[in-house]
Amino acid sequence: MANLLYDTLLGVHAGKTTPFLHVVDGTVVTHQAFLATAAQIANAMTEIGLKPGDRVAAQIEKSPEALALYAACVQAGLVFLPLNTAYTVDELTYFIENSGAALVVCDGRNVTALTPVVQGLGGQVETLNADGSGTLMVRAQRCSTAFATVDRNADDLAAFLYTSGTTGRSKGAMLTQANLLSNAQTLVKEWRFTAQDVLIHALPIFHTHGLFVATNVTLAAGGSAIFMPKFDQDAVIENLPRATAMMGVPTFYTRLLDDPRFTKDLTTHMRLFISGSAPLLAETHVKFEERTGHRILERYGMTETNMNTSNPYEGTRKAGTVGFPLPGVELKITDPATGKTLPDGDVGQIEVRGDNVFKGYWQMPEKTAEELRSDGFFITGDLGTIDDEGYVSIVGRNKDLIISGGYNIYPKEIELVLDEQPGVLESAVIGVPHPDFGETVVGVIVALPNQTPDLDAIIEACKTSLARFKHPRKLVVVDALPRNTMGKVQKNILRDTYSDLFT
Ligand code: ATP
Ligand code: MG
Repeated sequence: MANLLYDTLLGVHAGKTTPFLHVVDGTVVTHQAFLATAAQIANAMTEIGLKPGDRVAAQIEKSPEALALYAACVQAGLVFLPLNTAYTVDELTYFIENSGAALVVCDGRNVTALTPVVQGLGGQVETLNADGSGTLMVRAQRCSTAFATVDRNADDLAAFLYTSGTTGRSKGAMLTQANLLSNAQTLVKEWRFTAQDVLIHALPIFHTHGLFVATNVTLAAGGSAIFMPKFDQDAVIENLPRATAMMGVPTFYTRLLDDPRFTKDLTTHMRLFISGSAPLLAETHVKFEERTGHRILERYGMTETNMNTSNPYEGTRKAGTVGFPLPGVELKITDPATGKTLPDGDVGQIEVRGDNVFKGYWQMPEKTAEELRSDGFFITGDLGTIDDEGYVSIVGRNKDLIISGGYNIYPKEIELVLDEQPGVLESAVIGVPHPDFGETVVGVIVALPNQTPDLDAIIEACKTSLARFKHPRKLVVVDALPRNTMGKVQKNILRDTYSDLFT
């Protein structure tokens, strides 16, 4: 037996003095040093009684030690369960209880509030602070830098990641060693990562994007990362000259474009900019190319499946699309009512199958059975279409689809029109109950600073661009759209707020 995930991503770097993490304070963590810290943490966790298969929940700031905790879990056969740093103690209670975590690693600031909760549930608490201090590291530093890697099967759980909670309560996605490893290896090949790559890593490590896509790809390629505690424009601009690649969410790119220091010169040596986690507006894609000459490579994935599709490294990266299914990933567009595959060009639900697809939701057999078919296809909850060249586009989420008077209306199409109107910064289109039509369209608009959009003029503009059944029945202006901690718009909250506009 072996532990393929550990051996392939981590163990392979044993003894190497090559850089793995360039921390923004100037320190460099070598592969060897990183593995030594991970082994010490693995020893410490074993010492306090954790057994392979136990869950280790962690709500900690991003730091090299926090990442080493992930590596330690892989090495010791523990299931790593990272939690969003924005969650409050009340929210954490749900995750700790739901996951049955045997160990909760938290920031020293929260230890007093969390200890009774965790102990009440039979778990233990250790601390790990942003600067790498804390009780876990005090224990770890007393331990050996060698640890006998625990054997694991490809099908054993490696991590347990909660979804972002955009459409409802977060669900715990059970991810196996094979899920993580197969996706990392595919992405290294598809995106041509090598040991020479230096990745700007400004994403959080409690989410699939920063933890698995960015970290596992860097490890699998043997390259290094410029490891930033969070996205900070100044730091990114300062560090770009020594990087070769960057992964980000769309807001990273819009913020860089808003900064006059972000010039073509700053990016000429860069090899690749990748975007995902939320839709990248075609407009951002175009502006980015105009400014830098680089075409952002957009890809599509989710907590449950890792990455599913990607625009090509060589070949055309089509703005507004998420590219082709990755090698080893089957993707089909199906009719939500019948589950039958639809012809290319039609909009339907996106289903995927492959080694990347998770094992199911933790302790939610009914939810798992609803979304994970017995033949292995996972119903993603996203709606999309495939064009005549095979590029996949995401139209929105199934839950956000509006059915008005029997017609299907995709909010994104209307949002694109609203976003272009004078005085509009951004918009969210929702369906609300309507006595005649079942549902009708409401546009929620955020104005540009110090501007008052002319709502009548916007309705007129919709009339020229959109079929009558798609016209918003009402537009409302709000200060900001409700977003979850990953920055995704929570349309369920908007639907609740405006549910009785017409009834
Ligand atoms: P929950 O499942 O709890 O409601 P969530 O789906 O937002 O939350 P994540 O797993 O973090 O949780 O996000 C995955 C979703 O993000 C996808 O299902 C898709 O809707 C969206 N997404 C990811 N990448 C892209 C992309 N490139 N373009 C459009 N949407 C994307
Ligand atoms: Mg989801």
